[in-house]
Amino acid sequence: MYTAEFDYKKVSSVADALAALKAHPDAKLLAGGHSLIPTMKLRLASPSALIDVSSIPGLKGIRLEGDVIVIGAMTTHRDIEHSSLLKDKCPILPEQAALIGDPMVRNKGTIGGSLAHADPAADYPASMLALGAKMKIESSSGARVVTADDFFVGMFQTAVAEGEMLTEIHIPANTKSSAYEKFAHPASRYAIVGVAVVKHADGTTRAALTGAGASAVRLPKLEAGSISSLVSAADLLSDNFASAEYRAHLVDVMAKKALARV
Ligand SMILES: Cc1cc2nc3c(=O)[nH]c(=O)nc-3n(C[C@H](O)[C@H](O)[C@H](O)COP(=O)(O)OP(=O)(O)OC[C@H]3O[C@@H](n4cnc5c(N)ncnc54)[C@H](O)[C@@H]3O)c2cc1C
Repeated sequence: MYTAEFDYKKVSSVADALAALKAHPDAKLLAGGHSLIPTMKLRLASPSALIDVSSIPGLKGIRLEGDVIVIGAMTTHRDIEHSSLLKDKCPILPEQAALIGDPMVRNKGTIGGSLAHADPAADYPASMLALGAKMKIESSSGARVVTADDFFVGMFQTAVAEGEMLTEIHIPANTKSSAYEKFAHPASRYAIVGVAVVKHADGTTRAALTGAGASAVRLPKLEAGSISSLVSAADLLSDNFASAEYRAHLVDVMAKKALARV
């Protein structure tokens, strides 16, 4: 199926992207296109214009600023998978990136596009919650920073409002040990259930779940030391791939595997 007609504008700065968003309120930002283009082909979205932000130089790359890792929103899954800084300071992200889709998806797809899209089966939302990450969101009236706990609002819904853009992800460089375990869809590799566990240098453990419900959520029972009956099936999705009851079972299994590695 083909997309509806749209205008295309490539921008080379955040300021230009925000100005274009202001001028075309029904436009969509185009990052790697690996969620947006399929959505447009299915006519679930028909924006009048695409603002291509994938080549804005300042939005690509991973750097350490004091004790915070800063990841540009347009950094690809492949760059995350192969980053020596992340392998050293935040290994859960390269671990997750290597499990996303296939090489084509990893070469084009971006962390910012994935987080802004907030697909319930995406991998990164679980690690963002477990790492205690923060998201920098910019608009023509300024910038604000939102914690991962406040960022994922619902299915395909985030704290990014109309006219705003996710520009950076900030992660405390305080991982002591971490693990991500996913039961992947056999064709797409999206998470049917994914559990991320991060032990932080201050002795706290944060854990989160993706794939099973409308959006990624923390796992408070696991964080408090439980290893079974972590979630209720009543809160989970049921579809052709897995019933809610089976997902609830998988959450316990994936959590045990992740905890054993942590
Ligand atoms: C075959 C296939 C398999 C996949 N498997 C997996 C998998 O196993 N795990 C997984 O997690 N994902 C998977 N994905 C999704 C993939 O990771 C996408 O790359 C990701 O979801 C979207 O990133 P993108 O850069 O392509 O964003 P795009 O598709 O370009 O954009 C997605 C949405 O986010 C908005 N957006 C983009 N950037 C910004 C920004 N900076 N600020 C605000 N809004 C923005 C866009 O307007 C759009 O609405 C798969 C995709 C495919 C096609």
